[in-house]
Amino acid sequence: MSLWGEIADQIAQATGHGFQAQPPRGQGGGCINQAFTLSDGVQSWFVKTNGATRLDMFEAESEGLNALAATGTLYAPRALLTGSHGDTAYIVLEHIEFGRDSNLGWRRAGQQLAELHRCGSHAFGWQRANTIGATHQSNTWQSDWVRFWRDQRLGFQLELAARNGHGGRLQTRGEQLLTRFAALIDHDPPPALLHGDLWSGNFGFTRTGEAVIYDPATYYGDREADLAMTELFGGFSADFYAAYREAWPIHPGYRVRKTLYNLYHVLNHLNLFGGGYLRQAERMLDELLAEC
Ligand code: ADP
Repeated sequence: MSLWGEIADQIAQATGHGFQAQPPRGQGGGCINQAFTLSDGVQSWFVKTNGATRLDMFEAESEGLNALAATGTLYAPRALLTGSHGDTAYIVLEHIEFGRDSNLGWRRAGQQLAELHRCGSHAFGWQRANTIGATHQSNTWQSDWVRFWRDQRLGFQLELAARNGHGGRLQTRGEQLLTRFAALIDHDPPPALLHGDLWSGNFGFTRTGEAVIYDPATYYGDREADLAMTELFGGFSADFYAAYREAWPIHPGYRVRKTLYNLYHVLNHLNLFGGGYLRQAERMLDELLAEC
């Protein structure tokens, strides 16, 4: 059986409805995977594929999306199934029909993100490791947020950067930050369910104007880490932030912590893409070290 024949069969089994798939339509836009719409003319599914060794990544994405969807807060498409066929791994998701934003939509999104962040846990971490971009993201449960951020976020990416040949100043400044940044954590964050990779490319609005999030790197962490990421590449409206702050005010120390949290993503970009991200990471380290 072909890959697409198997996926159609799996969809029929999982839904309990016959599914006579039309040829898949390729969709651009993905950073990591190939993306397709698979439809029988009535029901459409969004399918991502990659090499068979990435099945684990899709399983983690499936668990993350379904955990986000189960909160009933910010809308996230449900994952129907994952699997592999020959040398291809796949994930099948509820298909989103994208539409346009509105001031009201942005406001609701801000409120809903605060509601998502109210979903707490006993500790920081997640039930399994997942990926951030294509990079491994470790989520071992940890009750101490500073240790979590030091060992499983910044420390991990700094070590990876060293292995990728980025030694020197980045590493010496990085080590200094790891021993000093606890001084910046003065707000006692509760473990909050996070999207984990919340930039504008993983956020949109449906045809009915509802905000939607996808492609997560879910874990329980400081909610400020999600907010910081929305600011890293921009694209989120002032209404969104105003509504979030009304629903759950933000501690003043966020002004500096934002850089601490975004440093993780900039280091990850350095590890994935190299180039100009080294300068950016060094600038951020200098800024942070001046504050602690
Ligand atoms: P990748 O894992 O390769 O980064 P994404 O999950 O970000 O891929 O998806 C790539 C693009 O496909 C997104 O930017 C978005 O436009 C679209 N997309 C993502 N999820 C869905 C979905 N469930 N239904 C329809 N389109 C989607």
